[in-house]
Amino acid sequence: MRARKPVVSLLAVAVAVLPLLVGCGAASTADPTSATATPAPSSVVAVPTGPTVTVPGLDETAAGTSSASSATRSTTVSSPAKTTATSSERATTVPPKSSTVDVTTTVTVPPPTPSTSKAAEPPATQHSTTSQPPSTTKAPVSTKQNSGGTMTRKVVVIDPGHNGQNNAHPEIITQQVPAGFGEMKDCNTTGTETRDGYTESLFNWKTALLLKEKLEAKGITVIMTRDSNDGVGPCVNERAAVGNDNNADAVVSIHGDGDLHESVHGFYVMTAERAPAGAAMAAESHRLATDIRDGLVGDGSTPSNSLGDNGLWQRSDLSGLNLSMRPTVMLEMGNMKSATDAGPMTSAAGQDKYAAGIAAGVVAFLVNGG
Ligand SMILES: [Zn+2]
Repeated sequence: MRARKPVVSLLAVAVAVLPLLVGCGAASTADPTSATATPAPSSVVAVPTGPTVTVPGLDETAAGTSSASSATRSTTVSSPAKTTATSSERATTVPPKSSTVDVTTTVTVPPPTPSTSKAAEPPATQHSTTSQPPSTTKAPVSTKQNSGGTMTRKVVVIDPGHNGQNNAHPEIITQQVPAGFGEMKDCNTTGTETRDGYTESLFNWKTALLLKEKLEAKGITVIMTRDSNDGVGPCVNERAAVGNDNNADAVVSIHGDGDLHESVHGFYVMTAERAPAGAAMAAESHRLATDIRDGLVGDGSTPSNSLGDNGLWQRSDLSGLNLSMRPTVMLEMGNMKSATDAGPMTSAAGQDKYAAGIAAGVVAFLVNGG
């Protein structure tokens, strides 16, 4: 059953002029990827000083350039980005593998380098993925194997929510993009932050890197939807396309919540209520959610004391879920406004613990047929 209608949604309206006050999933009508804080007020909105920022997922008109998406996908930048433009344009270059490779074939592709290997960002659809069947190609497999070798052909997409420069570019992230079921929503949002200013985008990014490392250690191929925390976007439709185009075995979107009620704490795992890819895929998403919930609980994390039902919550309004054709969950790891959660969410040890719990759940899901 659904949790109570959060009071925070009313508070969010009351304080809408302030940025970053309400987390992405707190409100029952909120979208973790599109309904967070109003873009920063004019006093803190940074005017882009560098080249035009291109954001994956924006169509040509929205991006203001005729080659935004293709340029983003084809540009490879190996050095740290100095501008939001370059960071958002950094693309991944790992070629796809054939889906026909026999499972017994010895693969000689070098294993990915933890934290630094760039994921393969596939050709993006500029339209709702509800009309696009899953791709028949996947990213290269890793040669790493666990004891049973069962993970070697699995592909997991990790989506660290938001991006570090989203708040400086409201003109970009408020562009409207396909959000599934014929709807349009903002390209992206800023995310929330702790009361001390530790941003959700950074938490998402760091936790995602730790999760990536743990999954790769199991031989799983990991693809990230962004490759830094100093860029803008990509848009929600582009993020969803990464999982769809790579025929991902599992998609995990990582977020942190921003409920203003100090007493609200704990994680919850969300799945799509409207089943964009049909009942069978929805059941897989639910299994993935349950396994991740159990993995987090098994590692000592606590389900939300306010939202969801024992850590699980079906939502009909989340773009990232409504656009996905693959087993997909969106996680709210904790309430960044709560001291109970802010501590672990901003510490390396806490982030590692979250990542370990998620990884345990993902592996359990994949071992059992994901
Ligand atoms: Zn978020």
